[in-house]
Amino acid sequence: MNYMSIPSFKNQLIKSNFEKIYAHEKAHKNAAGALAGAIVIEKNAQGIPVGGHVSIKMPTLNPKNPKRTIEQADTVINSAMAPSDPSSQDYKVAAQAKSIKSQAIDLQNKQKKRLDYYA
Ligand SMILES: [Zn+2]
Repeated sequence: MNYMSIPSFKNQLIKSNFEKIYAHEKAHKNAAGALAGAIVIEKNAQGIPVGGHVSIKMPTLNPKNPKRTIEQADTVINSAMAPSDPSSQDYKVAAQAKSIKSQAIDLQNKQKKRLDYYA
């Protein structure tokens, strides 16, 4: 039994997990631009990275500027789907942004109609 292999295996795991998780979170962050927060890597009690996240600002429906809501929602959707291995949480974020986007599109269409009517 080679006891030396135990810490080196752990170090390898720390390194490979960190790189995998960091690459995933970095893809989100790069695609989200100004809407992204800092990358957080979570570790277990042994110090091995087990997960990570980066907070992305979800747009709210802005009745005064639905176009901006649509643009922000597109950024969030792209960011959520940016990693090569999106998680179930990532799909949820994308779905939420898509729902906000469709509400903003509806609002924009209604506003356009109103403008046409008064034109
Ligand atoms: Zn993710």
